[in-house]
Order: sequence, then structure tokens, then C-alpha cells
Amino acid sequence: MTENDLKDLWVQVLKNLEPKVKKAHFLTWFQDTAVLDIKDGLMIVGVPNVYARNWLEMNFNGQLVEVVKEVDASVKEVSFEVHPNLGLEGDVRGVDVQSMIKAPRKVRGKQEVRLAEGVRSKCLNPRYTLQNFIVGQDNRLAHAACTAVATSPSATYNPLFIYGGVGLGKTHLLQSTGNEILRNYPDKTVVYMTSERFTNEIVEAIGKRSAKSFKDKYRKVDCLIIDDIQFLANKEMTQVEFFHTFNELHDNGKQIILSSDKPPKELKGLEQRLTSRFEMGMIVDVQFPDYETRLAILHAKCREHQALIAPDVLDFIAHNVRNSIRELEGVLLQAIAQAQLEESTPTIRSVARIIKKLNKYDALAGYDDIGDDRTVARSPDDILEIVSGYYKMDRDKLLGADRHKGVMRPRQIAMYLIRQELKHSYEEIGRLFSGRNHTTVMHAVDKIMKVLRKDEMVLRDVNALKMEMGL
Ligand code: ADP
Ligand code: MG
Repeated sequence: MTENDLKDLWVQVLKNLEPKVKKAHFLTWFQDTAVLDIKDGLMIVGVPNVYARNWLEMNFNGQLVEVVKEVDASVKEVSFEVHPNLGLEGDVRGVDVQSMIKAPRKVRGKQEVRLAEGVRSKCLNPRYTLQNFIVGQDNRLAHAACTAVATSPSATYNPLFIYGGVGLGKTHLLQSTGNEILRNYPDKTVVYMTSERFTNEIVEAIGKRSAKSFKDKYRKVDCLIIDDIQFLANKEMTQVEFFHTFNELHDNGKQIILSSDKPPKELKGLEQRLTSRFEMGMIVDVQFPDYETRLAILHAKCREHQALIAPDVLDFIAHNVRNSIRELEGVLLQAIAQAQLEESTPTIRSVARIIKKLNKYDALAGYDDIGDDRTVARSPDDILEIVSGYYKMDRDKLLGADRHKGVMRPRQIAMYLIRQELKHSYEEIGRLFSGRNHTTVMHAVDKIMKVLRKDEMVLRDVNALKMEMGL
């Protein structure tokens, strides 16, 4: 079968599946999936991340096979494979299930808009929305101003000027305001660009001697968004052009949104006639958010990436990242990536390492008392002792034959920890646990790995145990 045949087949399968599956599940887990191959009755379905693979394997395998058979009777079995490129720009294999459910909304994506000769603009990234911006004390006003502007551009605050330090959400707010304006007014032309880009275009235009001034070129724009305006400092030519463009747009009732690292008054190297224009509308700042907001952001990002991370670990990150939201997000994503690679879950110790790499000299709250030099569990005996202590259960019971759930789970966890942390073979572990078969151990370890991805209580237990083990 050609790639196109496979895609048609998969679209048909998804169409048949859609009415049988909860909409949220359908949208979350089948987005950007594709059939990669069908061989000897086995269909290989590509998915964009391990979370999708795990979830589909656990919850969907049977049902999916049934639906696939309706479309292609030769298929007997389905398996899932992770292909991180699926869903990225340039990879056309994945199916966009969002558009199967509803007509695609007219939000213009990242395409280039050609406004006039010599003027190009990268447009908006749909990843940024006002809805996925977490609001707290320190950015409430900025978010409210953006929402007001997005609801009625040019009629409220013009220009809207947002300032604040690096990584605090300025670009997110600017981009999402642009996206929201397009959602509300699909016929408007919104242009987003960085001030460097703006400068480059001006320089290019001057180089080419394109005589027409910039203000004419931007006439068609309904909303001009320029990010990081501080970089116009000391660029006189650009400032002159920008001054005219600004006035032209403003006089014609077009919306202007700007961001900067400082309030207009403190911007050095910018003409005063320009900064006083910036003060004509609304000026709002974004600050580093408080602990609760940081935690809320972490929770939101976990949902977005379909990652389950123990609450005490998230708490630790929220306490210890103190510079920017970009860093907060960076630490979380590194922790998720590392855990995926090692098929484990992030612990306080593993995220502490990531944070320490970023801030070499800072002490970490809630970490020094755990101590970097604690004894690390080194033998199965250590682990058995810790697990039996934690669950207040006799070691013999843990190793024995009792099949009650209250005993099975701690036993599986002990097997999992010995396998993951000490890398003992399944056979060795089987022998330790009253001569069990190695497949039993394999099954137990696998089971815990799966449960860890959906059961917060077990995740919490395993993290607490790892901490006691000095990991
Ligand atoms: P800035 O432009 O101020 O340097 P960004 O807008 O690029 O910062 O933000 C850095 C990262 O943090 C982005 O990935 C952004 O989506 C995220 N972010 C910032 N603020 C928030 C927030 N309040 N809620 C959710 N994500 C946020
Ligand atoms: Mg930015």
C-alpha cells in the first residue's frame, strides 16, 4: 500500500471510531496519529508521544482492532509506535482529528503574509492562547487588558504596552491576543513581529531603495504587534520609520500592541517623541508569579504534555525555580524527557539536579535537609527493608505467597524498585521472592510502570520510597 492508501484507510478507521469514543479522548489521543505499516495482519500505528502510546495500549487496543477489522479485514492485531515527528510541521502523515470533528476555525497559522513589496511577516503561532495563559496576581491586569483589546480592538487601549523581565509571558500574551483577534474577527489582518525583524525589513527596504515609506506598506494592517521594542534603541532610521507607521496606524484607528523589558520612560536610546506615543494608551507589567500561580502553571503544563508527576515533585519545582516561567517550563520539560528516556518518574532528587545545573550557586529549599550524601540503597535487602517499613508489613509477607491486593502491590513495587534501581535480572529477583518465575517479575515491573502513569497514589508512594532510598 502507498502512503496515501494508508492515510485514507486510517481516516476511515477514525471516522468509524469517532462516534464510539468520548470526544475528549478522541481529540487527545488520536490527534496526529497515522498508520505506518500493515504487515502479516499487524497494523502499526504511529503516535506522537509515549503518553499517547501508553494510554492507547492500556485503554484502547481491543476496541481499536474491532473497528480496524470493519475497514480492513486482514488486520488481526494493532501495535503502537512513538514517532515524535508526527504532528510537527512538514510531517504530513498524521491525521488532524480536530478538523474531522468540526470545521477548522479560521485562525491563520504560521504562514507568511505578504503585505507589500519588501514587507513580510511571520504570523502567529496558534500554540499561544489567552485560555492557556494562567492568571495570577502578578499578571492579572496584563491578561485583562489583552482580553479587552482582543474583544474590541482599537476601542479600548491603544496602544497596549506590556513590559516585564525575560521569560515572564510577554510574547505569550502578545501572540495570544493576536490569535484571539483573528478568532473574533477572521477578516482582520494581524501582523506580529519582533523588533529585530522590523528593523531588518527596514534595512532591507532601504538597501533596495524601495522608495515607498513604511507607513504606506503597513496600511492594510488592522493590528500591528511588535515584540521587544527595546531593541529599537539607538537605531535612528528604524525609529523614524516606526514613528510614521505608528502615527499612520493610530490615526486610522488601528490597534497597536507592544512589549518591552522596561516601561516607556525607562527605555534608553529611544526618541522621546516615540516613548511619549507609547504612553498614550495602556501600560501594564508582568511580574514573576507567586508560588500558587507557579504551581498552577506546572499543573497546566503537565496536562498539556499528558504527564503525571508526583505532587511533592511539582511543589519542589515551584518552590525552587525563581527566575522566570520559561525556566519553570524548561525544568519541567527536562524532567519529563529524562523520565521518558529512563522509563522512570521524576523525583525530587532528579529535578534538583536539573535545577542545580541552571543555578549553580543557589541552595535549594527543601533539599539540603534531604542531603546529597544520604546513604543510597545498594542491595535488595536495603530495598526490602525500606518497602516493608513504609507499608508496615513483614518482610516475609512481602516475599511470600499471599495474593491479597494489599500485599501484591507493595510486592510489585519492591520488585520494580530492585529492577529499576539495582538492575538485577528478572531471574535473580524471582529467586529472591520465594523462587517465582521470571515472567511473574517481568509482569509485576511492567504493571507498576503502567500504573505509575495514571495512579497518583502509587506515584506518590514510589517517590516517597525512592526518597528514603536516597534517590
Ligand atoms: P517573554 O516573552 O516575556 O520573555 P514568553 O512569553 O516567551 O516570555 O514566556 C516563556 C514561556 O512561559 C512560554 O512558553 C510561555 O508559554 C510560558 N508562560 C509564560 N507565562 C505563562 C502563564 N501565565 N501561563 C502559562 N504559560 C506561561
Ligand atoms: Mg518574548
